[in-house]
Amino acid sequence: MGAGDQQNPSCHEARELLLELLDGNPTAARANEIRHALSACPECWGHLTAELEVRGLVRECCGQVHAPEQLRQRIITSLTTTTVSVTRYRIQP
Ligand SMILES: [Zn+2]
Repeated sequence: MGAGDQQNPSCHEARELLLELLDGNPTAARANEIRHALSACPECWGHLTAELEVRGLVRECCGQVHAPEQLRQRIITSLTTTTVSVTRYRIQP
């Protein structure tokens, strides 16, 4: 345990840290620590930024407009229609 000699976390640990950062509601200091640890591995850092981007987009979308029930129904209907037509297409000889 060398002082100041921080070991890079394994990718498995990094995954846990990532989840803690995103869902664990860490303090600012802890969040900083986690970001620092993740930045040691480019791959894990990529996961983090991608995840943050996606969540940011989702939050933006859902925060701005509450999907109206009509739209929801329309989406469900169009999804159902697509499934039905695909099924019919497959049944055709
Ligand atoms: Zn990694």
